[in-house]
Amino acid sequence: SAVIVAIDGPSGTGKSSTSKAVAAKLGLRYLDTGAQYRAITWWMITNGIDTDDPHAIAVAAGKPGIVSGTDPAAPTITVDGLDASVPIRTQEVTSKVSAVSAVPEVRTLITELQRSIAASAEGGIVVEGRDIGTTVLPDADLKIFLTASPEARAARRSGELRGKEATDLAATKDALIKRDAADSGRKTSPLAKAGDAVEVDTTELTLDQVIECVVTLVEE
Ligand code: C5P
Repeated sequence: SAVIVAIDGPSGTGKSSTSKAVAAKLGLRYLDTGAQYRAITWWMITNGIDTDDPHAIAVAAGKPGIVSGTDPAAPTITVDGLDASVPIRTQEVTSKVSAVSAVPEVRTLITELQRSIAASAEGGIVVEGRDIGTTVLPDADLKIFLTASPEARAARRSGELRGKEATDLAATKDALIKRDAADSGRKTSPLAKAGDAVEVDTTELTLDQVIECVVTLVEE
C-alpha cells in the first residue's frame, strides 16, 4: 500500500537532502513544498505584484500554474511551463517567501495541490515542508520533525550558498532566524511539530545518520 511520510522542520536541518534520499532508497515519490511556495513568490515578483500587499497576493494567487515533478532523483518545478528551479533559489525570493506564504488564499491553493499530488503518488511519497504533518497530510503514516541548533543550521545553509551568492555566516544566521520566526508566527498553518511526530535533532548527526534513522522509522 502507498506509504505517506511527512517531514517538517525549519530550514538548514537537512530536510531536503534527507527527504530526497529516503524517497530514493524506499522507491517513493518526493515533493518539496517549499519549492512550490518559492515558485508562487517568484511569479508574484516577476509579475510586479507587491509582496508586502496581502490583498494583491490573494487576488493573484490562482493565476500561476505550478507543476512539481516528483522523481526524487530529479525533482522539477515549473511555473506556466517555465523551468523555475534556478530562479526560486535567489536571495530575493528567499527574503519574500514568508510573506507570500502567510497569505491564507495562497496556502489553501498550494495545500490542495499538495494533497492531490500525494493522493496520486503511486507506491507512496515523502512530502517535506513546514505544516505537512499538522495540516496538509494529518493522516500521514509517519511524521518526522527535524531540528538543529541555529549555529548548525546557518553553517549548513551558508555551505549550500557558497559559490552561488556570497553570504557571510552571521547574515545567513540572521536571515534564517527571521524567516523561521515569520513561518512559526503566522496565523494560518504555521511551522509546527505535530503531536504525533517523531522529533530528530540533527545537530550532531551526519546526513547519512539522519537518512538511516528515518528509513528505519519508515520500515518499523
Ligand atoms: O523549505 P524552503 O526553505 O525552501 O521553504 C521556503 C519557504 O516556504 C519557507 O520559509 C516558508 O515560508 C514556506 N513554506 C511554507 N509551508 C511549507 C513549506 C514552505 O510556508 N509547507
